[in-house]
Amino acid sequence: MLIKCPKCETIYQIGDDVISKSGLKMHCQKCDEVFKAYQQDALKLPEEEALEKQNVAKMFEKVIPAASDLFAPQGSPKVRVMHVTQYKNTINYFLVLMLLALMAALLYALRFDVVRYAPVMEKFYQKWGIESVYNGTALEISNIDVSELTQDNVSKIKISGIIKNPSKYAMNVPPLKIVIYDTSGQKLLDTTHYLAQKRAGAYYQFGFEAIMTNPTPKQKNIKINFANDE
Ligand SMILES: [Zn+2]
Repeated sequence: MLIKCPKCETIYQIGDDVISKSGLKMHCQKCDEVFKAYQQDALKLPEEEALEKQNVAKMFEKVIPAASDLFAPQGSPKVRVMHVTQYKNTINYFLVLMLLALMAALLYALRFDVVRYAPVMEKFYQKWGIESVYNGTALEISNIDVSELTQDNVSKIKISGIIKNPSKYAMNVPPLKIVIYDTSGQKLLDTTHYLAQKRAGAYYQFGFEAIMTNPTPKQKNIKINFANDE
């Protein structure tokens, strides 16, 4: 062990078992100081000090989990802490799932409005096979005009009119179904006409025209409808 002279601070190395509990009378050969050295006066080597600090740190590590154990009736605190963490993770996972489900539900419920304000989103819905544009059942047909004509010796009937979208949403324009009846209600002709216009924007209107050949006999009624089966 190392003992330091209290006066001149000269350090002496002596055997570990030389100093008894009652101390050892020493005489400094450098400054002539006479003093009593005890085991607890021994200087520590830097390595010893570092080792001691590590031990102190380890002791604190042991104390900290032990303190939380005060609230624990049973079991190792480490295991219980893991349980708490798992529980919290489960809640977060559940919340994230709930938020995603809510977002999906909103995206679905508001799909017509989403596409109305962001037409790009229609492609997103199409990927999922979801229709995000209203079909044209709400479109209005007006100004219907029917005229008969003969072209290259073939009797024809021309039906024209205006198709109007009365809503603020864009509408898909379905095929136009035109049915001709005679005066007794007998169906003479039942045709489907695909219109050039596939989409009508908000409050948009456009003209349409459909030509049919040989609409015999001459007396007839005409009924126009949007084809629902397309
Ligand atoms: Zn001395």
